[in-house]
Amino acid sequence: MFLIFRLIKLGLIIGLIYVLYKVLWKGESLFKSKKSKKHPQAAIEKMKRDPVCGTFLPANQAIKYTISGETHYFCSQECKQDFQSGTESKSSANGGV
Ligand SMILES: [Zn+2]
Repeated sequence: MFLIFRLIKLGLIIGLIYVLYKVLWKGESLFKSKKSKKHPQAAIEKMKRDPVCGTFLPANQAIKYTISGETHYFCSQECKQDFQSGTESKSSANGGV
């Protein structure tokens, strides 16, 4: 009688370990899939390129300058002024193109 009870107990313990192992493994795979779902591109998309010096910088830290519906992003006031004087001299030289 005692041997049967021991066997049942052993079977239950093995079953429990198996279930726990399965749950843990599934949880880990879920965690892994969540990690892979992260989009590192989202952070890159927010980076703007300074057209004057070519520096990439976050849009929220950049100096914005909008001309003819286009917004340009600059790392410093110097670059912005450079760009402004550049577009002004170009437009006057090419007749507004
Ligand atoms: Zn710059």
